[in-house]
Amino acid sequence: MSTDCPFCGIVAGEIPGRIVGENDHAVAFLDANPMAPGHTLVVPREHRERLADATETEVTAVFSLLHELAPEIETTVDADGATVGLNDGSTAGQEVPHTHAHVIPRFDGDGGGSIHVAAGSPADLSDAELDEIADEVTADGGD
Ligand code: AMP
Ligand code: ZN
Repeated sequence: MSTDCPFCGIVAGEIPGRIVGENDHAVAFLDANPMAPGHTLVVPREHRERLADATETEVTAVFSLLHELAPEIETTVDADGATVGLNDGSTAGQEVPHTHAHVIPRFDGDGGGSIHVAAGSPADLSDAELDEIADEVTADGGD
């Protein structure tokens, strides 16, 4: 636990949080400044700054809660869909340094965009460059 982390505080019950789900390794609670009704955050119980810092067990637990809760949240707030994702690192917009996945309910005509909007404009890459990236990621440990 990190003493100055708000999400560790919520998990420990020391900071108020609207908890909507939990399992052995992850907790879900409503975002205090929601982008939409039902906006929910899912975090590992342990303080892990980035996605890669979490264990496979923790990541599995986070994704299991996302899988369980996303449809329940959609139904609760009568949404038409949901954007599910996380800002991994400050460059990507991560403000709270305890990794967390967002479930943001989406509504027809809400004016929001797809997750691609978060990355700005498309990267102009050739087939050869894409092949090279794929080869390097695979060599670095991808399957
Ligand atoms: P991110 O930019 O991905 O780090 O998002 C952080 C999110 O945490 C924001 O949507 C905040 O509204 C939310 N947030 C920050 N503090 C709290 C808190 N104490 N309880 C619930 N949500 C919080
Ligand atoms: Zn924390």
